[in-house]
Amino acid sequence: MNTQETIDLFNKYVIANYGRLDRVIVKGEGCYLYDADGNKILDMFPGWAVSGIGHCHPKVVEALRKQAGELIHIDNTFYSEPQGELAKLLSERSFGGKYFFCNSGAEANEAALKLARLYTSSEKYKFITAEGSFHGRTFATVAATAQPKYHEGFLPLLPGFVYVPFNDISALEAAFTDEVAAVMVEPIQGEGGINVATDEYLEAIRELCDKNGALMILDEVQTGVGRTGKWFAYQHTDVVPDIMTLAKALGGGVAIGAMTAKEEIAAALVPGKHASTFGGNALACAAAVAVIEAIEEDNLLENAVELGEYTKEKLEQLKEKHYIIDHVRGVGLMIGVQLTSSGSEIVDKCLDKGLRINCTGGSVLRFMPPMIVTKEKIDQAIEILDSVLTENTK
Ligand SMILES: *Cc1c(COP(=O)(O)O)cnc(C)c1O
Repeated sequence: MNTQETIDLFNKYVIANYGRLDRVIVKGEGCYLYDADGNKILDMFPGWAVSGIGHCHPKVVEALRKQAGELIHIDNTFYSEPQGELAKLLSERSFGGKYFFCNSGAEANEAALKLARLYTSSEKYKFITAEGSFHGRTFATVAATAQPKYHEGFLPLLPGFVYVPFNDISALEAAFTDEVAAVMVEPIQGEGGINVATDEYLEAIRELCDKNGALMILDEVQTGVGRTGKWFAYQHTDVVPDIMTLAKALGGGVAIGAMTAKEEIAAALVPGKHASTFGGNALACAAAVAVIEAIEEDNLLENAVELGEYTKEKLEQLKEKHYIIDHVRGVGLMIGVQLTSSGSEIVDKCLDKGLRINCTGGSVLRFMPPMIVTKEKIDQAIEILDSVLTENTK
């Protein structure tokens, strides 16, 4: 099937709820994508932050092949080894809590919100979230997402969500009442434009939650699993959340979500209160175990730190040359380039030249290279971006 034939199929049979580019991707390998027209694309935003250790990582592929031949899915009526093993590996690398598995980020956040309601007293039904956040597209998580553009057409929203400006401690203080069950934030807002929470902000959330008998939920769906150079972004601070959610990079490309809570909180989730048919299936869990092993065996956390610094340095150099770049921000391999005007045209032109990056919030270029990236590949990406910015100002 050629590109046009595939697009025709979509036009006829697939709901058009995405703005898609006119390209059909047929293969992914490491830092590269290949389209049906034979183009090779350097991917600095692999799978919307899902393919965190690159496309089709050999260790993930091997684990999937092996697991697929033994057991793909077994319902949660039974125990299965990959789910238990994954929970252990994650718990040891996070705050020692227990894990619940599902299939996406939104589902992980749904589980977190339900657990916070279950664990806290019945008059506590409110959730504080931050402006610019993104927590998913289900009814509760879209209400948690404090960006009006995601609410259009869906009013009235699920009640109970209170929005505060991000990184604003006094606004948070003012929003607290006895009815607050939890505060939910991203340590670095991804879709919101790579906005990094200050240490003081996370510390203040922790203190205010403790003072008011509320829970602190960190949405690490995009920041988690090594992206920032630590297993989880909260580990850059002294703050430990009560509940944390994961998804995107966890399965190396396979759909999986996870919610973890401190043991005494997790205990509120007794049989009958929450469930997922596919959650924790053997195939997805085996993939996630392979991701964790690959990150450790190949020293990818160190690589994320080192290459993150390198990428930022290179982008800072571009800033000296191109006035459209206002500043560069981010942690590890989660980097945003704040432009002084729209970035979408720049992203399109980069793709035409064989580089995939993303633009979010209208004017922030998002670089989230796979954790296996090398200096040579970053140089290649910078060179393409440089040429596009140069042409753009002509
Ligand atoms: C992508 C994302 C989600 C939603 O994940 P889905 O798998 O699309 O449901 C939630 N929170 C954050 C921070 C995200 O980046």
